[in-house]
Amino acid sequence: MKKVYLDNAATTQIRPEVIQEMTTVMAEDYGNPSSTHSFGRNAKSILELSRKSIAKHLNCSAQEIIFTSCGTEANNWILRSAVRDLKVKRIITSKIEHHAVLHTVQALQREYDIQVDYVAIKPNGEIDITDLVELLSQEILTLVSLMHVNNEIGTVLDLDRVGRICQQHNALFHSDTVQSVGKTEIDLKTLPVDFIVASAHKFHGPKGVGFAFVRKNSGLQPLFFGGEQEKGLRPGTEAVHQIVGMAKALELSYRNLETERKHISELKSYLIEQLEIEFPAFEINGTQDGFYTVLNVILPFLEDKIAMMLFNLDMKGIAVSRGSACQSGSIRPSHVLAEMLSDENLKKPSLRISFSHYNTKEDIDLFISGLKGI
Ligand code: PLP
Repeated sequence: MKKVYLDNAATTQIRPEVIQEMTTVMAEDYGNPSSTHSFGRNAKSILELSRKSIAKHLNCSAQEIIFTSCGTEANNWILRSAVRDLKVKRIITSKIEHHAVLHTVQALQREYDIQVDYVAIKPNGEIDITDLVELLSQEILTLVSLMHVNNEIGTVLDLDRVGRICQQHNALFHSDTVQSVGKTEIDLKTLPVDFIVASAHKFHGPKGVGFAFVRKNSGLQPLFFGGEQEKGLRPGTEAVHQIVGMAKALELSYRNLETERKHISELKSYLIEQLEIEFPAFEINGTQDGFYTVLNVILPFLEDKIAMMLFNLDMKGIAVSRGSACQSGSIRPSHVLAEMLSDENLKKPSLRISFSHYNTKEDIDLFISGLKGI
């Protein structure tokens, strides 16, 4: 049975070149980057080359890239330090953020009694910018935390526009860019953002490694304490093989960006065409022109089919997701869809199909025939 993986917003397949590079580093470059002997110096130099390579692709300085264990950690660090050390008194965010942001903000609200404001969401899942401007008119030291590409519905935030609005109101701007790094151009020299985060496993790199971009002189302090690694901002012996894998994955993603984006965009259009033919009553959750890697749809199935839908597809070797991966298996509706859909539409079955360059038209055909069999 041919397996079909259409859950690339949850995680992606590692590129073979990345595995190759990581294997070499694990076998040969096992020194501790903090050691002063040749083994250590070698590992340190590999680490710094990786940092430089990542910084080059995002057009920032290497010192502004801090390695972390994942996107969740990077989000937690930035939000927590902004409140604890930068003395932010208010966070403006949205109810459709990933839980790595949403639950952190809620914890900070409980612990530090900060003000939290949620910017309004339009029915198509976009952030209401007018509401953001209105909220920012209140003069209080604020951090705005809004994600770039939504992991469930693929809506895209105009980082440049929101960043400029934040600057005009002297607010700090953090964006969870986990779904967009490696999949679209990000130029940190010109983008007015203070903090972004990334996670290697979303762009065909290894799991368990990510990074934060922290603009120079931000004043962030570490989340936890230990050695001098990452200038003391993120102590702990660096996972050199993971970091090398992440840098290689990012390099390949940007080298192949145009061709892979074209291929994936064509697959997404093909899927929409097929849905229009086979399930004409289907609806897209989010904007019509959402990010090219994600499509979230309501399917015109009876409610009694919903519970078995993912299971049936899984039996056929087809992996898609209902809402976000963290919630699969749970009967609660996705917190993102709950914010934007009517009660009636929320009861209907929604599926998230997310693509990578490894997908083919045949995958889409198998998915469609899998749906028809339900
Ligand atoms: N933010 C977004 C938008 C995500 O999609 C994810 C992954 O699901 C995360 C954060 C968490 O990243 P990680 O798996 O590296 O902790």
